[in-house]
Amino acid sequence: MKDYSFTVCERFMRYVQIDTQSDPHSDSHPSTEKQKNLSKLLAGELLEIGLHDAQTDEYGYVYATIPSNTNKNVPVICFCAHVDTAPDCSGANVKPILYKHYSGEDIILPDDTSQIISTKDYPYLKKHIGYDIITASGLTLLGADDKSGVAIIMDMVNYLITHAEIKHGTIKILFTPDEEVGKGTANIDLKKLNADFAYTLDGGEAGTLEDETFSADAATITINGVIAHPGYAKNKLVNAIKIAGEILDTLPKIFFSPETTEKREGFVHPVHIEGIAEKVKIEFIVRDFITDNLKKHEKKLKELAKEVLTRYPKAVMQFEVQEQYRNMKEVLNKYPHVVANAEEAYKRSYLKITNEPIRGGTDGSRLSFMKLPCPNIFTGMQTIHSKHEWIGVNDMQKAVEVLINLVQVWEEKAE
Ligand SMILES: [Zn+2]
Repeated sequence: MKDYSFTVCERFMRYVQIDTQSDPHSDSHPSTEKQKNLSKLLAGELLEIGLHDAQTDEYGYVYATIPSNTNKNVPVICFCAHVDTAPDCSGANVKPILYKHYSGEDIILPDDTSQIISTKDYPYLKKHIGYDIITASGLTLLGADDKSGVAIIMDMVNYLITHAEIKHGTIKILFTPDEEVGKGTANIDLKKLNADFAYTLDGGEAGTLEDETFSADAATITINGVIAHPGYAKNKLVNAIKIAGEILDTLPKIFFSPETTEKREGFVHPVHIEGIAEKVKIEFIVRDFITDNLKKHEKKLKELAKEVLTRYPKAVMQFEVQEQYRNMKEVLNKYPHVVANAEEAYKRSYLKITNEPIRGGTDGSRLSFMKLPCPNIFTGMQTIHSKHEWIGVNDMQKAVEVLINLVQVWEEKAE
């Protein structure tokens, strides 16, 4: 790609200025209408580049196809990124700033000079000295998560359409709304998409390739106490709020929780509590990389709660578990070539591959269990969901190159 003038930076600078923040408290699909502004723009640009079936739907998804240009029977590969930005930090009036040939100095953001991006806090900046980087202006997030993924995919399309000599199978483009509020796959039309395998572009440092996420359940404990007029409650009243307090107090203090675990350790985490003296509901999330361990954690939680309940024979407890998502590795292990082909593409770009399990879920973990195995490729995004968010232009260009390599690896390996 030596003589190619990348479009990824110019696209990124434009896309981040469109406010696409999603809303966790909304019941509509998409959660915010404004996400469609970017979706419509992208569908229009894809049509302009020459993808004739590019379209966006009522939910804010964008679908498009790059037709195959080979006689080989290549599996259909999809590249996916999300258009929305996180609710944690404002995404309105984003003013991206491009620092050409970054000098290595601390960056004081102009619209709020108390916001400083320093190499001390973010040592990865040092790898970008002499290269271009992009930040926000101090009042908003940047939106690299995941508009970098969007821009990378758009530039890949542009490259493939203008370089017909690159052989590839059918490639599907998918942009999703509402990833940040956990609903990115809620209204996805997998039939329309019609892909065999997918890759999300939603990862961090150049070289990261993620194929493992948490497995996740939600657990709910409901405690029914016994209510009585407090003036005449002696030996009658059983207060559910106090029982809930005792249950929470019995949770282990030095392990079993997000604040005391890292790497491959799982946890149980109370996230919500509501109720009155008569009845209390406590909601937990349960996480582990090994799906079978979820059951063990849930059993332990139930036993701890039951133990408390033995002191209150008139109180009644219900314990319910709901599946949330599963470690994508369980699916990807059945299709090892999906990750292997990506590794080959990284190698051709001289990238050192780092593979760390994600202590969370992604659209990829949900897609993997919807029969669309889907590891996650880097975009370069850093310090996401914050005013300090930044990205190196070089990393985005590297990701475009990886995708161009990747479609060729799939073609070469097909018959
Ligand atoms: Zn993301």
